[in-house]
Amino acid sequence: MGRIPEQVVAEIRERADIVSVVARQVTLRKAGSRHWGLCPFHDEKSASFQVHEDKQIFYCFGCGAGGDVFAFRMKQDGLDFPDCVRALARELGIAIPESGSDEGQTSAIYRANDAACTYFRSELRGPNGGSARDYLRERGVTEDLIERFRIGFAPAGWDGLVSHLRRANLSASDAELAGLIARRQTGDGHYDRFRARVVFPISDPSGQISGFGGRAMGDDTPKYLNSPESPVYKKSRVLFGLGQALDAIRERGRVIVVEGYFDLLRRSRRVTRTASGATPRKSFSCSTVTPPDKRRPNARCRSCCPRACACARRFCRWARIPTRCSRSPGSRRCAPASTARSRCSTT
Ligand SMILES: [Zn+2]
Repeated sequence: MGRIPEQVVAEIRERADIVSVVARQVTLRKAGSRHWGLCPFHDEKSASFQVHEDKQIFYCFGCGAGGDVFAFRMKQDGLDFPDCVRALARELGIAIPESGSDEGQTSAIYRANDAACTYFRSELRGPNGGSARDYLRERGVTEDLIERFRIGFAPAGWDGLVSHLRRANLSASDAELAGLIARRQTGDGHYDRFRARVVFPISDPSGQISGFGGRAMGDDTPKYLNSPESPVYKKSRVLFGLGQALDAIRERGRVIVVEGYFDLLRRSRRVTRTASGATPRKSFSCSTVTPPDKRRPNARCRSCCPRACACARRFCRWARIPTRCSRSPGSRRCAPASTARSRCSTT
């Protein structure tokens, strides 16, 4: 990644108001130039977390967490400093000049993914999208879920996205690096990687689309096709639906990781603000992750599926959520979409 210029960091520090940034996550009560609330970083019943408006810092008398607006967002969202700066810059509408080639490349991939998402969404709504709309309806995916998860459709043709990206003046090599298109084996040019599939955009914790998962609607193989690894998409580090669930996860201190896209959507339909994430890897299975039990701080993981557990634990470490894993009540096996519905009431 290229270096972010110091003046951009300074401008963010100048313009980002820590009180409003914190207030998005914590209910604050004003007393003088200080604001008090329940600490989002440890469990407490009375407020020992304060935000100092004049000094633009926060401090918790309970757990000692403290720092400026960057420190808060890094800790809160599990971001490293460059990603934190980028997230705040985006929220404030501050452009980050691209100094290094890697930085330029990363931004270009995100731009290509954004354009692809727009294209897939408009195709789902357009005349080509009838079969995909029927398919989603049959699988119980409502309009509201389509909007919330930005679900789209990649039509069957070979160059719909290639043409769309060309019209948007985006470089084919960036889109190739993003795994959206692939080079033709014979002759010049590229072809669309995702074809005749319902497409799910997968976001990183800062909300940017890092990759896509495509589900075949018939018997086409593979049933699921994911973006290949790229400088912004590392399969083992992302969870579909995490961006939509982050607030609820923080609020409840709990997350349920399910296997597939439809498992997640089914849960989301029944639970208004579900704290779920689905792994984009078919091989992972369901696992329930809850905050640690104080009496058994080192309780061993007893998931039915060690790989799912490993994934869930890795995710929680990265999101800085303390974990204890357990199998769902009464369940000996992982839950496919068909049983996720009944498990909603118990989990
Ligand atoms: Zn604290």
